[in-house]
Amino acid sequence: MFKDPFMLMKPLDMHERCSLCKQSFEPEPGFYFGAMFLSYGLACLIYLPLALLLVFYFGWSINAMLGFIFFLYFLFFFKLLRISRSLWAHLIIKYKPEEA
Ligand SMILES: [Zn+2]
Repeated sequence: MFKDPFMLMKPLDMHERCSLCKQSFEPEPGFYFGAMFLSYGLACLIYLPLALLLVFYFGWSINAMLGFIFFLYFLFFFKLLRISRSLWAHLIIKYKPEEA
């Protein structure tokens, strides 16, 4: 559903429609607003346990842990945003095989 994965300037460029079933990837303006909350939730799910593990299990200092988490966060920021958009579309758009 996304275009060139390595176009760093346009990380969220999407195709207008699915190449197989012609489902629109933006059924209404602002459709992906909710994906931001999803991305926030996913980030918490992933990074919070990791942060706690680093500090309480591996004995990292708070600053080292924060630095590492922020590094990971920015490294995977767009990846996470894309996964969230994909998840959001999967959750919201109903599959209608008769339109294919
Ligand atoms: Zn499709």
